[in-house]
Amino acid sequence: MRVHVITDMEGVAGICRWAQVSHDGALYQEGRRLYTQEINAAVRGAFSAGATEVVVMDCHGAGEELSFNSLIAEDLDPRCEWVVQNEWTEYTGALAAGCDAALLVGMHAKAGTPDGVLSHTVFARDWSDLRFNGVSVGETGINAALCGHFGCPVAMVTGDRATCEEARALLGDGLALVETKVGLGRYSARMLPPSVVRDRIQVAAHAALTGPPRVEAYRPGRPCTIEVDFATPDAVERFLHRDGVELAGTRNIVSRGADWWEAWRRFYF
Ligand SMILES: [Zn+2]
Repeated sequence: MRVHVITDMEGVAGICRWAQVSHDGALYQEGRRLYTQEINAAVRGAFSAGATEVVVMDCHGAGEELSFNSLIAEDLDPRCEWVVQNEWTEYTGALAAGCDAALLVGMHAKAGTPDGVLSHTVFARDWSDLRFNGVSVGETGINAALCGHFGCPVAMVTGDRATCEEARALLGDGLALVETKVGLGRYSARMLPPSVVRDRIQVAAHAALTGPPRVEAYRPGRPCTIEVDFATPDAVERFLHRDGVELAGTRNIVSRGADWWEAWRRFYF
């Protein structure tokens, strides 16, 4: 069994401020430790359920340069491999080779979610909404669509309560969920000690990968229309002459493709 672990930092237990995910300073170093240990919990659950190959992909763009390299390599479970990508959603190798399931660890809620800790979609200051064929989604939806394009179902999502509710609504009741915290606002949360959350993630990952699949691969539909609402009008300027991308208002674009991956590639890269 091959398992892809897709990870983000904002949904990890103990994290509720940008300084913990922002690429320098003592709080970022604390965030990295919390992040890496939560990833390890999912990796342990995967191997105990019978995984033979686990590839971890860090999807947290830290700091202004959006470095996708926040986990602490020397602390990783020695049985897994991991990928550092240059741009988000760029690396598809493990999925293209065939993965049985994906585990999404440390996810956060989509832009505009009031009780979503550090809620945002892709670019925290720039994107106000994202829709796949009319359905509003956040980064859980993007990761699930990327996996789904390659036929890989998401078996588990971890993150705050709002993220878990968003994921269940999109991916269905068969999805395993681990609440890492309960958001009280965008920068405040009621938390559990990280050690408790890690134990729950390990157990949930094991259960999610045991027995018949309970979640189908997520496919937003064919053909696929992706709409992005930006916060400011200047954000659409770089799409003015992009094939397959239309302006749909002063700060909105529409990208169309035969399937989700084509529509995504047309505007995102
Ligand atoms: Zn992130």
